[in-house]
Amino acid sequence: MSRFLDPRFAALKEYTPGEQPQDKQYIKLNTNESPYPPSDKVVQAVNAQQVRDLRLYCDPDCTKLKTAMAQRFGVGENNLFLSNGSDDILNFCFMAYGGGGAAFADITYGFYEVFAKLHGVQAEIIPLREDFSLDVEGFKGKNKLVVIANPNAPTGLCLDLTVIEDIVRSNPNGVVVVDEAYVDFGGESCYRLIDRYENLVVCQTFSKSRSLAGGRLGFAFACPALIADLEKIKYSTNPYNINRLTQVAGLAVVEDDGYYMDNCRRIEENRAFAVERLEGLGFEVLPSKANFIFCRSDRMGGKQLYLQLKEKGILVRHFDKARISDFVRITIGTREQMGALVDAVRQLLGE
Ligand code: PMP
Repeated sequence: MSRFLDPRFAALKEYTPGEQPQDKQYIKLNTNESPYPPSDKVVQAVNAQQVRDLRLYCDPDCTKLKTAMAQRFGVGENNLFLSNGSDDILNFCFMAYGGGGAAFADITYGFYEVFAKLHGVQAEIIPLREDFSLDVEGFKGKNKLVVIANPNAPTGLCLDLTVIEDIVRSNPNGVVVVDEAYVDFGGESCYRLIDRYENLVVCQTFSKSRSLAGGRLGFAFACPALIADLEKIKYSTNPYNINRLTQVAGLAVVEDDGYYMDNCRRIEENRAFAVERLEGLGFEVLPSKANFIFCRSDRMGGKQLYLQLKEKGILVRHFDKARISDFVRITIGTREQMGALVDAVRQLLGE
C-alpha cells in the first residue's frame, strides 16, 4: 500500500476470487462456471468483422441486446439494466442505495461485505438460522438496503417467491436487491414482481447458466425509476462497460435460449447424481437449487478435503469462515466430472 491511498480504503479487505489457475489443468469445480461451452451461434457471432470493429467504441446502451432481452423476458426495455457482470450491478446498488445502511446474511455472497466497506455503508449482518435457512422475520421492516442471494451462495438454499415478496413488501422505504445469479437451476425468479414494487431490484447474470463468465455480462430488472438510477451511476463511471464482443456474444446467447436452458436441466441431473453419491459416502449435503452443492463429511475437515482433492487435480472451494469451515462448495460439472469427483472422494475416505 502506498502512502497516497485514501485512508477510507486503507482498511478495506478486498474480495478474494476463487482460484483461476493458469499453469495446470484441473477439473475445475470451484467458481460455479458452466461446464458446457457457449453455443455455436456465439462462436459465429464473435467473428473477424467484430474484431475489426473493435477500433470503434461499443454501444453504451447495448440497444440490440437490450431489445432481445426485453422480448425474451417480456419486460420493457426501461425495466432492464445491463452491466459488466452482476458484481458491477451489486456494486452500483450499494453505491446508490446504501446511504441508510444495508442488511444481509452472515453466510452469503462475500462481495456484499466488501461493497459495503468500499462505500462506507453501515452493514447489519443477520445470521442465518442453525440449518442455514434465512431468518425471514429478521429481514422484515428494515427500510434500508436489503440484499438477499436467492438461491443463496454458498449454501444453495432457495426461498419461495411468497417469502421474497413478504420481505420486499415489508421494506417500502428501502431497496431490496434479490441476487438471482443461480436462479436458473431450479429456483423461481421474482422479476415479475417489479411491476408491483418500486423498491425491488432483481440481478441475474450470463456467467452461470449462460456459459459466459469470461464475457462479463450481468443484468437487472426493476421499475424504470430504479433503472434510471443505475444508468446514472453507470454513465458517471464507465458508460462503455460492456465491450463490443460481449454484446454480440450476449445477443447470440439470448437467441439460442433453448440450448442454455437445456444445459441447466442437465446440470440439475448431474447435481442429483452427485448428491446421491456423496450422501452414499456419508456426506451431509444442503438441499441445493444452484449449480453447486455445499457439503461436509464428519470423516474429513473441509480444508483437508479441499487440499487433498486439489492434489488429485480437482479444484473445489473452501471458505475459512467459522460457521462453514467444515464444508466445501462443489460446482456441478458434467456427469463425467461428477463421476471423477465421487471417485476421488471415495479414495480419500479409503473406501
Ligand atoms: N452473485 C453471486 C451470489 C455470485 O456467486 C456471483 C459469482 N461470483 C455473482 C453474483 C457475480 O457474478 P458475475 O459478476 O459473474 O455476474
